Amino acid sequence: MWMSQSPVPVSGHEPPPCLYCGERYGSHDVARHTEPVHCGPCITCVDKPACYECRLMYCVCDVHRYRG
Ligand SMILES: [Zn+2]
Ligand SMILES: [Zn+2]
Ligand SMILES: [Zn+2]
Repeated sequence: MWMSQSPVPVSGHEPPPCLYCGERYGSHDVARHTEPVHCGPCITCVDKPACYECRLMYCVCDVHRYRG
């Protein structure tokens, strides 16, 4: 009887999950998760990539403001 083994992911090929949002992103989304956005006066989220959600209640940043 054949025990089907789950394929081992090729390491070194796939980028690790985003350290800001935890998403696994493909090459089309790299910029959104890695490129720093120089957004503005909020010191919590300045220079974070666009995928980052700022949970700060008073964040005024259009890019990072948490839309919950
Ligand atoms: Zn991300
Ligand atoms: Zn921001
Ligand atoms: Zn912010």
